[in-house]
Amino acid sequence: MGNYYQPEIETASREEILAIQNEKIVKQVKHVYENVKYYRDLMDAKGVKPEDIKGVDDIKKLPFLTKADLREAYPYGLLGTDLKNCVRIQSTSGTTGKRVVAFYTQHDIDLWEECCARAIVAAGGTNEDVCQVCYGYGLFTGGPGLNGGSHKVGCLTLPMSSGNTDRQIQFMMDLNATILCCTPSYAAYIGETLAEKGYKPSDNKLKAGIFGAEPWTEEMRHNIEESLGIKAYDIYGLTETSGPGVSFECSEQTGMHINEDHFYAEIIDPETGEVLPEGSKGELVFTSLDKEAFPLLRYRTRDICVLTREKCACGRTHVKMSKPMGRSDDMMIIRGVNVFPSQIETVLLNEGYTPNYQIIVDRVNNSDTIDINVEISPDQFSDIVGENQAKERKLESAMRTMLGIGPKVHLVAPKSIVRSEGKAVRVIDKRKLHD
Ligand code: ADP
Ligand code: ZN
Repeated sequence: MGNYYQPEIETASREEILAIQNEKIVKQVKHVYENVKYYRDLMDAKGVKPEDIKGVDDIKKLPFLTKADLREAYPYGLLGTDLKNCVRIQSTSGTTGKRVVAFYTQHDIDLWEECCARAIVAAGGTNEDVCQVCYGYGLFTGGPGLNGGSHKVGCLTLPMSSGNTDRQIQFMMDLNATILCCTPSYAAYIGETLAEKGYKPSDNKLKAGIFGAEPWTEEMRHNIEESLGIKAYDIYGLTETSGPGVSFECSEQTGMHINEDHFYAEIIDPETGEVLPEGSKGELVFTSLDKEAFPLLRYRTRDICVLTREKCACGRTHVKMSKPMGRSDDMMIIRGVNVFPSQIETVLLNEGYTPNYQIIVDRVNNSDTIDINVEISPDQFSDIVGENQAKERKLESAMRTMLGIGPKVHLVAPKSIVRSEGKAVRVIDKRKLHD
């Protein structure tokens, strides 16, 4: 059992949640139809009227929205309210192309920050905690979202933003930070830097970390938990739906509870758009239930995961999503085989390497090639000719078993792969340059 920020809603019965969702969706669809011409046109083209949506079961009748729609409607085309009612703009990181902007009324900000507060409380946060937020501040939603959630919980908030790792560590130690919020790749970097400065994991006061904004594996979780001496919790979200806090992990660490009173989730077949039954792996689609400024109906996230309603020992009743294994557009198709960077990360960390790696995909003589540069720690480097090569061959064979194709592995010198302070860039696909 854990603590809840809003126990009534977080542990509500399925019937209660459904009743809330059914009531909200009718209003949300009406709100969108009346105020967002772009989506009204999509509904009209599909022959769906707001009256056809009587509850969440009818959501499947609605048209999808994609990132392409958001780019086309940029900047104001999907706005659901007058600009004078809006108090904030945030923007995506632009990981996969042109940035998208999202608008917020004060109601939308409160709703978002409450979602983040639920995540902080689920990670054990109270008003006695010092919460160090080193997600980027500014247009990126990571910093502002967790900052707002931390305030709502009443934590003493350290609004560090990302970067300047020496100062992060100084403040972490001097001001006794107990909760760390950043991307998992930056958490790993902070852990590595602490060790280099001669700190043991027990020297800091941290007890928990809330890490998200990019895919990370269970192996990465163990690495971070050990290097910082904490429990590491996952948090998920995207700018389009508000930001981080759409879903978050509880003490069970077996998936993230989706804040179902605000977001309705579906899993679809990314090829056909067909809604898949519970437990199937597919693309996650979100419908906002009570947003004012930037309401999105059936937004296709391109994130691939699984939903489950199995009872959770934490007492929360909201549906859980598995860690997204990567976006459908992170997936590399190499010689016809689907490969995710997360699979490569799993092999590397299982084999005792650090999470510092880079994947280079190219096409040579009409055939795809995949090279993986793997950084070794100073104690892993061998002077004996042949030993490093033997290590490379061993990794290649482990990769072949995991991926079904054989990459080339190159061990590279300590510190030669650039560290990430935000979202890590793992893949360089040179094929795109040729196209
Ligand atoms: P961009 O799409 O430009 O990166 P965002 O900053 O809004 O913009 O990022 C949202 C995306 O980040 C999600 O769609 C998802 O792919 C990824 N993401 C966020 N949190 C997680 C997480 N906990 N695990 C895996 N991926 C995540
Ligand atoms: Zn739970």
